[in-house]
Amino acid sequence: MTSSLSDVQSSFPKPATGESSTSPTPALTAAFDPGRFHDGAADIVGRLTAYLGDRSVRGLDLLHPETLLKAARELMTLERHGIADFDADRVSQIVDLYTGTGIPVYSPGYMGRQFSGVVPLASLIDLVGSVVNQPSSFYEAGQLPNVAERLMAEELNRFIGWDLDRFAMVTTSGGSLANLTALLAARNRAFPQIWTAGAEGTPGRPAIAVSEEAHYSVTRAAGVLGIGERQIVRLPVDRAGRIRPDLAAPVLDEAHRRGLRLFCLVASAGTTSMGAFDPLEELAALARRYGLWLHVDGAHGASLLLSDQHRDKLRGIEQADSLTWDAHKMLFMPAPCTLLFYRDKTAARGAFRQRASYVFDEEPDVYSAFDSAEKNFECTKRPMIMPLWTVWSVYGPALFAQKIDRLCAVARQAYEMVAAEPDFAVTHEPESNILCFRYRPDGLDPATVHRLQLEIRNRIRDGGRFFISKVDIDGVAALRVVVMNHLIDADHLAMLITEIRDIGQRVLRASATARHDQRNGSHS
Ligand SMILES: *Cc1c(COP(=O)(O)O)cnc(C)c1O
Repeated sequence: MTSSLSDVQSSFPKPATGESSTSPTPALTAAFDPGRFHDGAADIVGRLTAYLGDRSVRGLDLLHPETLLKAARELMTLERHGIADFDADRVSQIVDLYTGTGIPVYSPGYMGRQFSGVVPLASLIDLVGSVVNQPSSFYEAGQLPNVAERLMAEELNRFIGWDLDRFAMVTTSGGSLANLTALLAARNRAFPQIWTAGAEGTPGRPAIAVSEEAHYSVTRAAGVLGIGERQIVRLPVDRAGRIRPDLAAPVLDEAHRRGLRLFCLVASAGTTSMGAFDPLEELAALARRYGLWLHVDGAHGASLLLSDQHRDKLRGIEQADSLTWDAHKMLFMPAPCTLLFYRDKTAARGAFRQRASYVFDEEPDVYSAFDSAEKNFECTKRPMIMPLWTVWSVYGPALFAQKIDRLCAVARQAYEMVAAEPDFAVTHEPESNILCFRYRPDGLDPATVHRLQLEIRNRIRDGGRFFISKVDIDGVAALRVVVMNHLIDADHLAMLITEIRDIGQRVLRASATARHDQRNGSHS
């Protein structure tokens, strides 16, 4: 090979002397020097190892943006003409600023959001991905990533249960884009003319039915698709946040009477606020009865399919038409990594009915049959499957199942501990790893309870020991704990409960004093 390549090269005319000025400058060459990569890697990996090893209980150190802007600006070279000299110290400072200002996702104090510390092996593979840079919508550009997508699709589909010859999977940059893509495929199936003709001539108004608890990306997708917020039909939920199938049918009937042409029902497998699972079997029956595409937004909770203990919550998933599954949530991968599954691959191709002759072959050949580009919106797309496929290949599915079981068990324990406290009130029994509750001693009106939770949440964040989130439930704020770290134990939960109570009582005392002072005309 090498000799034939040099044969070809030697047949080209040699550059005339004087053209050597077009060769790269030494500084340019140096920036790409593998030795420099090696030296930089040793320092960065050392710093990251220390970061990973820090198990202290801590929350978010939230800097004022102006402070961080200043610190970050000081790290920028002032060199504008030549290439600046490599400055290892500057790189170290950037890494320290990066690791020091994020949410500490590996700390047991982190209980606030749905992403987590990643399986460390996953981040190393992400590094490989950044070096080889194989944006993966086309087999030609990312051979292994596209093969890995096929393998990972088959592995995960075993837990969904669709026909191997018919189902399809595509990775997307996040669950929001997956929801949009699935809704697009659903709309194109029901209204094939809209893709080319636009809305003109469409009889009736296309509409979707979603849970009152649906993630905002679903309603946003309706906006993007031109369905319009007014054509979003909201299905009522029970106290736990699950769609009530018995109340859904009358709502769908009413929508038909109003002239809406429903084409899709979106269920949640794990709502964002409380981690509630809609009853998929009943909703699938409903979708069939009304001729609707059933999309399951399992961004958060589809991963529970991997757990023998929790799989049952997704009973009926095999009857869905599509499923959004975030691997950067409960599969502990670097974000973003989302898998969008379709029961029927022709529907998957229907999402983007478009031909670009410079990239799409009319007839797929043995290579382009592995392209994903027809099924995803992105043209250039990160080969996000690689960390997941590698971790799965090296450790097997039990790693995920064990961690998921542990997270759900800790959430359950948190529920029991909080429920036992007389001045706390849980809003639901956790179905997965999310628990919402309020600190509410007796005798407070809802407005006070609302303000109190917001104040507690912010003061906990400012305290820097725990990081939790908040969510509105029935119009009243609640504290929200998302257990993403398997190192969280009962001691951490007890510490959190104590901290919430201390802060809550301090806030209530301060506002009682303020009221008292007001009554006595004191303005100090
Ligand atoms: C997180 C989440 C989303 C959005 O997914 P991203 O990956 O953050 O874009 C959608 N639906 C549900 C239920 C979620 O929890």
